[in-house]
Amino acid sequence: MSISALVLLSAGLDSTVGLALAQEAGVSIRRALCFDYGQKAAKMEKKRATALAEYYQIPLQIIDLPWLGDITHTALSAHSAAELPDVGLEELDSVASVTLASAHRVWVPNRNGLLINIAGAFADSAGDPLILTGFNAEEAATFPDNTPQFSQAITQSLAFSTEVQPLVKSYVQALNKIEIFQEALRLNVPLPLLWSCYRQGPKHCGHCESCSRLWRAAVANGQTALIEAHFEEIPHA
Ligand SMILES: [Zn+2]
Repeated sequence: MSISALVLLSAGLDSTVGLALAQEAGVSIRRALCFDYGQKAAKMEKKRATALAEYYQIPLQIIDLPWLGDITHTALSAHSAAELPDVGLEELDSVASVTLASAHRVWVPNRNGLLINIAGAFADSAGDPLILTGFNAEEAATFPDNTPQFSQAITQSLAFSTEVQPLVKSYVQALNKIEIFQEALRLNVPLPLLWSCYRQGPKHCGHCESCSRLWRAAVANGQTALIEAHFEEIPHA
């Protein structure tokens, strides 16, 4: 019998490829959760997560957390007048202070801790022993709540607060964005359905950090033509 799981699906490259890899490994994904916490990209993320859930034939539940947007002071929140930081391709690795400053400017208070705990309630209720995230090596370098240590710590915490004691796991944890993009190609992930941008669309802006990371991965795989039409501007160095 295959193990059952629920997946946190933001409709970005990482969570979608993580889902596809889990399915390939024989995991039975019984539900996807998509969160609206007042982020600028919420509308597009919900639209694309709905399309992806349909594509992978997984029931999707959208969860609204409007109060989280209210207490988020950074540029990621739709309430914030602050401008989202632009991060060029060459700044992604070479200038650590740029990505750290960018991380600070898109921070949502305890977001991943909260989302996984909500997923923990669903997993406990449905009896699913696995919670899947899109945490990966590239973002773990900047965001402490994307690291394997965090997944391990919150798994330990859920062992106290749930009966089912789910494991929090990411099938893309060891991969960087270039490798994740490669897996997306191998697994025929429907790239036009993804939404990675921090902004509200309708196309990827092409200059936020998330757009730059996706574009760089496409460049490294020689496949920018697959996503070019979905970018408002082509990311610059
Ligand atoms: Zn963007």
